[in-house]
Amino acid sequence: MQPLETTTIGSFPLEPSPENIRICARIQAEAGIDYPAVPQLEDFCMLFLKRMRGLRIEGDRVILEDLIEPGEISEIMDQVSETISELERHDVKGVKAQITGPVTLGSIVEAGEAPLIQYPDLYETLVETLCEIARRICDFTPIKVVFIDEPAIPGALWAGVQEDLIISSVNRVVEAIRGRGKVAGMHVCGRIVEYDYIFLKTGVTILHHEYKGTPDNIQAYSRRVIEETGKMVGIGCVKSKPEDTVVRVEDVSEVLETIVTAAGKYGAKNIILAPDCGFAPLKHVLPRDEAIDVVRRKLEKMVEAAGKARKMLIEGD
Ligand SMILES: [Zn+2]
Repeated sequence: MQPLETTTIGSFPLEPSPENIRICARIQAEAGIDYPAVPQLEDFCMLFLKRMRGLRIEGDRVILEDLIEPGEISEIMDQVSETISELERHDVKGVKAQITGPVTLGSIVEAGEAPLIQYPDLYETLVETLCEIARRICDFTPIKVVFIDEPAIPGALWAGVQEDLIISSVNRVVEAIRGRGKVAGMHVCGRIVEYDYIFLKTGVTILHHEYKGTPDNIQAYSRRVIEETGKMVGIGCVKSKPEDTVVRVEDVSEVLETIVTAAGKYGAKNIILAPDCGFAPLKHVLPRDEAIDVVRRKLEKMVEAAGKARKMLIEGD
């Protein structure tokens, strides 16, 4: 991705169906997003886990029964091809996909007394399955960027999972993506200041975090370390979660302010733009049509602010 280009994190506040995947793809394209994401309309963990062989799902619990294998992942590929066929009618630079990372999924799956990630040999079968999913997604030519969603990395460190295991398993998926010639990114939301050193050790090109909802994240990384490691920072510049039951659409000047602050810290040429996280939480506080309207307006404001930022910070140089 080029500096100040836009993408989204992936989830949207609609029920899963092929038609709704097309609607969410279209909303992104019509708002002017450079790299629309494959819409995630299911829970971002279950989306993958429920299609893998070797796991038993009981309500919210996922229990290891056997070595993990890809299983029904063609259903995930159907969602990718549905998105691509919608976006072919629009002018976009490429399509982004997302894969929930091994640390996050390995922390959820129960393997006897402990989470799967605590058993390296069994965990390996999950990592390899995710690599296979990554390769299959990357085989679609329009897919240019794949983000690995890893919100559970801070929790895994806290639970005593070795840093080396976290980095090496994420990097296996990164290599699967890069091996297909695609750009790898990572999304971790929430406060990440204490964990930036670990994200820097992964092989991803783009590190995306929430900067609008958690302005403190600006303390993470330095321009020098971003440039030395050849990475870019993905700036979450509009909120994606409701605050209690109130949902406010930021105005352009407010979005621009977040971008300018981030550009001042990291350098305009080292950042790309996206919302803080996925938009799925809006479905809990707004009726469907209002939720979708909020998404549309937030994306339009972000795209407009990105255009202004490009003029101010790059073309003006
Ligand atoms: Zn997130």
